Amino acid sequence: MSGVNHLTAQAILRKVNQAVEAAPSPSTALAAYVSLLKELIPCSAAALFLCDDDSGEYVLVAEEGLPIESEEFIRIKYGDGLVGLVAEKEALINVSCFASHEQYIADARVDESLFDSFLGLPIIDGAALLGVVVLYAEGKHIFPDEWCSICLTLTVNLAVLVAQAKAKGKLTMTASPNCRARYKDQAISALPGAPGIAIGKGVLVFPEADLDAVPDKEIKDATSEIKRFDHALTQAKEGMIALHNRAKETFSAAESAIFDAYLRILDSRTFSDKVHDIIRNGQWAEGALRCVIKAQVAQFEALDDPYLSERADDLSDLGRRVLFFLQEKEKETRTYPEKTILVSESLTASALLEVPHERLIGIVSATGSANAHIAILARAMGIPAIMGMHGVSVIDLSDKTLVLDGYYGQVYVSPSRALKREFQSFSKEESELDAELVALKDLPAETLDNHKVSLLINTGLHDDSRLASCVGAEGVGLYRSELLFMRENRFPSENEQYVAYKHLIDSFPNQPITMRTLDIGGDKSLPYFPIQEDNPFLGWRGIRVTLDHPEIFLQQVRAMIRASEGHGPLKMMLPMVTSLFEAEEALRLIIQVHQELLEAGIAVEMPSVGTMIEVPAAVYQSYELAKRLSFLSVGSNDLTQYVLAVDRNNPRVADYYDSLHPAVLMALQQVVKSAHKAGKPVGICGEMCSDPLSVILLLALGFDSLSMNARILPRIKWIIRSFTLETAQELLKEALSMHDPREVRQLLEDALEAVGLGGLIRAGRQ
Ligand code: PEP
Ligand code: MG
Repeated sequence: MSGVNHLTAQAILRKVNQAVEAAPSPSTALAAYVSLLKELIPCSAAALFLCDDDSGEYVLVAEEGLPIESEEFIRIKYGDGLVGLVAEKEALINVSCFASHEQYIADARVDESLFDSFLGLPIIDGAALLGVVVLYAEGKHIFPDEWCSICLTLTVNLAVLVAQAKAKGKLTMTASPNCRARYKDQAISALPGAPGIAIGKGVLVFPEADLDAVPDKEIKDATSEIKRFDHALTQAKEGMIALHNRAKETFSAAESAIFDAYLRILDSRTFSDKVHDIIRNGQWAEGALRCVIKAQVAQFEALDDPYLSERADDLSDLGRRVLFFLQEKEKETRTYPEKTILVSESLTASALLEVPHERLIGIVSATGSANAHIAILARAMGIPAIMGMHGVSVIDLSDKTLVLDGYYGQVYVSPSRALKREFQSFSKEESELDAELVALKDLPAETLDNHKVSLLINTGLHDDSRLASCVGAEGVGLYRSELLFMRENRFPSENEQYVAYKHLIDSFPNQPITMRTLDIGGDKSLPYFPIQEDNPFLGWRGIRVTLDHPEIFLQQVRAMIRASEGHGPLKMMLPMVTSLFEAEEALRLIIQVHQELLEAGIAVEMPSVGTMIEVPAAVYQSYELAKRLSFLSVGSNDLTQYVLAVDRNNPRVADYYDSLHPAVLMALQQVVKSAHKAGKPVGICGEMCSDPLSVILLLALGFDSLSMNARILPRIKWIIRSFTLETAQELLKEALSMHDPREVRQLLEDALEAVGLGGLIRAGRQ
């Protein structure tokens, strides 16, 4: 093997990334990848095979230098030949004379006699095999170590590209003239987000002005699409001119020069010509804009010049501005059918709020998992949702009839009549079950051996008071006040807050209400107060933000206490507390506000202040926290995330996120013991309370109250009334002796089946 590579792995990677970024489509990106691979790694040919699970074959999708002697598509059966060996072993295979390898199968379609050595690497993403990369070389030598490791580096990066392209439905190995034929009654798998069945129409929405989230979409009428783009471009230019004029007054000539540069790009013919060309090739304006901006940004970024790298950021900004105007128009014309299933790369609470409440029946998100806030909101609204959908572009679900199965996390596109009928009957059974459960409304949440627990609701998005009284809830265990802050494009005033809090308190007369102070950060952001961090879940969240902004905290606390006038003491709860100091400081501020109100002649009671237990530090200090405060409430969503070190929002690690992990159960046990030792009540308000399996253990752990979404409450009450505390305690003991959350799940599933409640964890009731 000859030729010494003088480039570093990093330089090679940069070069390859640049070529890939500049490619107009994933297929050309893969072709560019393979051709560069052959150019940069001394070898005679390079080939890329991708797995096609439908046919059970590896399909050759790109090659360089391979002497192909056949017209037909090159496909290799799963498991066959050296490619099959690489795939099966999921390991790098490096052989000096492949023709004499026992697994080698000669292929008449390719003249491999020209080569001797073979290097094969699996393409793996998220533990799933996506394909195989192969390099061939002349001469009976194995590929040197350094080249192997460069190839490995490139392949690991390629895996991300392939996975993304597949996720966006941009790589189709099967001839699929239309989506219907391909997906007919074939479930697209995702993660369950909120239980239930929905049959309706997919409506695609995008996060605003996010170029990365723009999917590809084919169009027929290029002329009107070009017009649409030109119009948005003109609006962006006008906006820029206005900004430029303002900048001239405020900034120096050098500082305002950037606006000149922006305007020059917007005015340049090459920019709009490039976009027009892509539109003429059948891409919609948003997609064409994304391609052009991304390609130029990649070119700038590759230049290793700090000044030009910054220009790359400017270009992205410019792209977002034009996209904003394209989307504004789209938003104006968007209509929501009667049975809307919202489909998006990444949904926000404000996108949910835009759909008239009675029309929204389902949610599909390509990102996020069951523990993301959007999924929690969906459950609270009783809307089935699936999250982290991959393997299909969201665009393929747009304007199609969809059947959504929120129990199994699946969606069917353009379903057959038979499938629709089947799901309609599941759905009917569910409604019947819910109607029967209403009969439990006035019965206590009490075990067969008379152990009582208080069932409360989580609320914040809508007025749930009617629903709460229909299901027999005993009060509010968690009011997520941040949802009020998400409704507007500015912080709500003290009075606006007062009105909202008073409405909530008036809606639950004589019932306890626990209001949580503002909990933003992590995946909950306010559009007008963005928090940009590399690691938001370990960043500026919850009480950290409000203690740093006492003006926001004091105003909110004032509005809450004022709203409780005449209604007995309010319960106020602090989010994301990680130290006694934070709890004490927040308590001091609350006492201060209460004192000021008394001095102003407003006769209100001091709220009872408690804290959420959401991080391991608070678990370990739960006794000290309980001694200082009035109550504890476990936020099991975050607690699970922090005990298990699993981002609750990341679908890639969703399988690791399990609140039934014995370590999480041990943490819960410690919190309950600490609170009771300090003589204080302890509740739990995370999604564990809505999980039919977990609830058995929460009973046994001794929580005084469980707070959940109102819709699930009758089912949870039914479970509580079907067990004895003694049985629950035996199950807890067994669960705590286990090591694997899957074993715990199985144990509890069996327990539910044994009392005839297996239907609560599946669609329908059988
Ligand atoms: C929790 O973390 O369990 C919780 C209830 O808070 P949120 O889901 O709003 O973060
Ligand atoms: Mg939380």
